[in-house]
Amino acid sequence: MKLTALLVNQLERISRNSFYVQKMRKAGIDLSSIKTLEDFENIPFTSTSELLAELKKKPSESALYREDITRINFSPSGKDLYPVYHTGHDLEIMHRVCAASLEAAGVKKGDICAVTFGYHLFIAGLFYQGQLEYYGAKVIPLGPGESERAVQIINDYQVSILVSNPTFAMKLAQMGIPSVKILFVGGEPFTSVEGYPEMVKKAMGGEITIIDSYSMALCMPVARSCKYGTGLHIMDDFVHAEIIDPGTCRVLPHGENGELVLTHLHKEAVPLLRYRTGDLTRMEKKSCPCGRELTLPRSVFGRTDEMLKVKGVKFWPSQVSGIIRSFSGLSNKYRVIVSTRGGVDHLQLMVEGSDPSGTTVDELAQRLKRDTLLAFNDIRITAKLEDGPSVIDERKGRGF
Ligand SMILES: [Zn+2]
Repeated sequence: MKLTALLVNQLERISRNSFYVQKMRKAGIDLSSIKTLEDFENIPFTSTSELLAELKKKPSESALYREDITRINFSPSGKDLYPVYHTGHDLEIMHRVCAASLEAAGVKKGDICAVTFGYHLFIAGLFYQGQLEYYGAKVIPLGPGESERAVQIINDYQVSILVSNPTFAMKLAQMGIPSVKILFVGGEPFTSVEGYPEMVKKAMGGEITIIDSYSMALCMPVARSCKYGTGLHIMDDFVHAEIIDPGTCRVLPHGENGELVLTHLHKEAVPLLRYRTGDLTRMEKKSCPCGRELTLPRSVFGRTDEMLKVKGVKFWPSQVSGIIRSFSGLSNKYRVIVSTRGGVDHLQLMVEGSDPSGTTVDELAQRLKRDTLLAFNDIRITAKLEDGPSVIDERKGRGF
């Protein structure tokens, strides 16, 4: 299949980027010869570690720094920060693509919005501020915390659009913010936690549209849901998405679980080219009334670098966390123990919590089977667990 014009243009742009010039020279790849998707799949992947190694260099020594950068945000990496560079063109495109999705979310020009994400150093606050202003909304940069002042401003200005992490939104809802009609959430797992969106919606009074987003500092945006609630749509005019088998690195068809790989379609500063996100997801192609097709129905539900093979099935332990969070009687302290009994894999789960109805273990077993495709041999709910979440793979004698 022929490459789209956007991909062709972007490869041309990337072929002048000194970081990728060196990388492609080592791999023996000439980007100007890439004409089809099959050719494209021969381009080597880009890893987080190689990008961060370059980004953490002083600007004067980094092949990813450029003179036309207009904004430098930062993002945490362990105890360090790394820079997130944007040119003016990058910000313009980011705002334009997001503005189109604001319309699909039900935001109207002139709506009064409040953003409770941080504005210092990190990108989230300015990301929303910029796109909402670009779209033509009125935006109050509330920033995080100070809930009493936030509630007063939201009520004084009859704010109808709130941008917040779900936990803080629920706190504000308890204090009374009835004017809010659309909530943009981010910063915490949301759609991937079964039952959580319904819980937040109820806490917000029921009559509210909740829009979930998925992105990362190096690629904002990646996907966002719309008012029809059909999942998170890939922003396919901003980013080219592939799903690969993290083991074989083969590109997988739509509908299969695998690792998300991203390529920017416009970005000038730090463009991603076949960037392995390490995030586990499933991408489906289905048409939505909003016009988007490529969709992540459950957002992201695990990290591929923690994959274990249990009973011949690929198992991502962080999936367990999302499932447990949907049971109100259980805390997020749990222990998964993989061992060998009689020559076959044995899978045990211990969770802190209570089970007054006596049905939680069975419901948990069914949910785990459905979502991980694995039958857990032993599930126990205990009143107190010393530590967790933890995963112990006794087959190898080590955990993480
Ligand atoms: Zn849609």
